[in-house]
Amino acid sequence: MTFPIGLHRPVEHPGPPPASADVVIIGAGIIGVMTAWYLAEKGLRAVVVEKGRVAGEQSSRNWGWIRQMGRDPAELPIMMEANRLWRDLQAETAEDLGLVQCGLTYLARRRGDMDRFARWLEAVAGSGVDSRLLTAEQVRGLLPGCEIPVVGGLHTASDMRAEPWVAVPALARAATARGVVIVENCAARVLDLQAGRVAGVWTESGHIAAPEVLVAGGAWSSLFLRRHGVGLPQLSVRSSVMATGPVPEAFAGGAADDDLAFRRRQDGGYTLAPSDEHDFWIGPDAFRHLRAFLPQLRMAPFGRRYRAMAPKGFPDAWGTRRSWRADEETPFEAMRVLNPAPDMRRLAQVQRRFAQAWPGLGPASSPVAWAGMIDVLPDEVPVADRAPLPGLSICTGMCGHGFGIGPGFGRIMADLIAGRDPGHDLGRFRLARFSDGTRLQIGPHA
Ligand SMILES: Cc1cc2nc3c(=O)[nH]c(=O)nc-3n(C[C@H](O)[C@H](O)[C@H](O)COP(=O)(O)OP(=O)(O)OC[C@H]3O[C@@H](n4cnc5c(N)ncnc54)[C@H](O)[C@@H]3O)c2cc1C
Repeated sequence: MTFPIGLHRPVEHPGPPPASADVVIIGAGIIGVMTAWYLAEKGLRAVVVEKGRVAGEQSSRNWGWIRQMGRDPAELPIMMEANRLWRDLQAETAEDLGLVQCGLTYLARRRGDMDRFARWLEAVAGSGVDSRLLTAEQVRGLLPGCEIPVVGGLHTASDMRAEPWVAVPALARAATARGVVIVENCAARVLDLQAGRVAGVWTESGHIAAPEVLVAGGAWSSLFLRRHGVGLPQLSVRSSVMATGPVPEAFAGGAADDDLAFRRRQDGGYTLAPSDEHDFWIGPDAFRHLRAFLPQLRMAPFGRRYRAMAPKGFPDAWGTRRSWRADEETPFEAMRVLNPAPDMRRLAQVQRRFAQAWPGLGPASSPVAWAGMIDVLPDEVPVADRAPLPGLSICTGMCGHGFGIGPGFGRIMADLIAGRDPGHDLGRFRLARFSDGTRLQIGPHA
């Protein structure tokens, strides 16, 4: 098996884009696709433009955890709604999203981990989430045969899994059946601004007139917004992942300790990854946003391994252009699918650790490896907001946990754009928090 989504995958949504729409969405990841789905439910004409392939970037490359556990208290109600929405989507779309309520578990190898879990439970008390602490014996009962030495765990029975590279393209197909137009190989180049407000988008395939535009460009959002004078302190880190071939089912859910994460896949293998370890390439934005990211750097939750230069064409590579015109090729077309090479040395360790954790499983055949660039904001929670430019909205910076919550933010953005009450307090997700003197609070690492 090779990684299923890339430029080798035939274009499924060829376009051309229509001349006008009610809303243009930039980016066909889970956020763009889900926002379009809920806009179509309201009878609005949504067009999603995607520079490469639907779910070509983070939305296919993730672990597939649909996780309430460990969420920021402001995200949790949205995630709990998303949990319900995933079930509705499975029922309404008649597509197999690989959705399974399997429960997810954090494994504690030290007492300090248990203290952290307990603090998180305290912070979300009253939310109604069914997360609970487990003793070491309860963990062993939940994962029989697993030889990771634990002192306990945090478990959420209602957490789920889905198959990212299956689910997001399937949701995109379902959206088109509802009237959404998706156009692949179609980069948004610049906004069409008239009299100080959004009037549409110039794409590589021509102009789309629209009074509303949503930027849902994942790791590229900051680059696109900056071209229009909108500042967003967003950086990206590389995260490597591996899929084993089919092996007997030892455990149907997903679990992670502080070193190894694993979850069962529908095709009979396991998805494995280092739990919280990333590579960070230093580029111009790293300097530009250094101040905003200092508290996060002090905590060192990401970027433990620093690298000097991002590969050519990455959003924050030294050579990536920061400015362009509507009639010239942009960095988005130059990198249709951001496909970083995985860290094979680290993945070999991960594979060994998985084999030690589950000695009864035997060797897994033909592992496949890939990596994704996770878009990160200084406080590790997203932006979901109207932008300073009238007619522009932003939903991005999902900070490594946007797959599970995607339907929730999609529903919210559709309501915001339609001028309706989003139904949640979005104060924590304001764009202005980065510029109005707000003291940033980093989200939890439960
Ligand atoms: C290794 C890894 C593991 C993860 N594990 C989990 C997990 O288990 N659970 C979880 O909830 N989350 C997880 N995440 C995070 C999750 O995958 C992301 O938060 C989520 O997919 C982000 O969705 P998005 O739509 O914002 O961005 P993306 O999926 O990155 O989509 C953005 C799209 O916009 C397109 N685009 C950008 N600029 C333009 C332009 N100018 N014109 C047209 N198109 C453009 C891009 O090509 C891209 O397809 C993980 C991420 C990674 C990388």
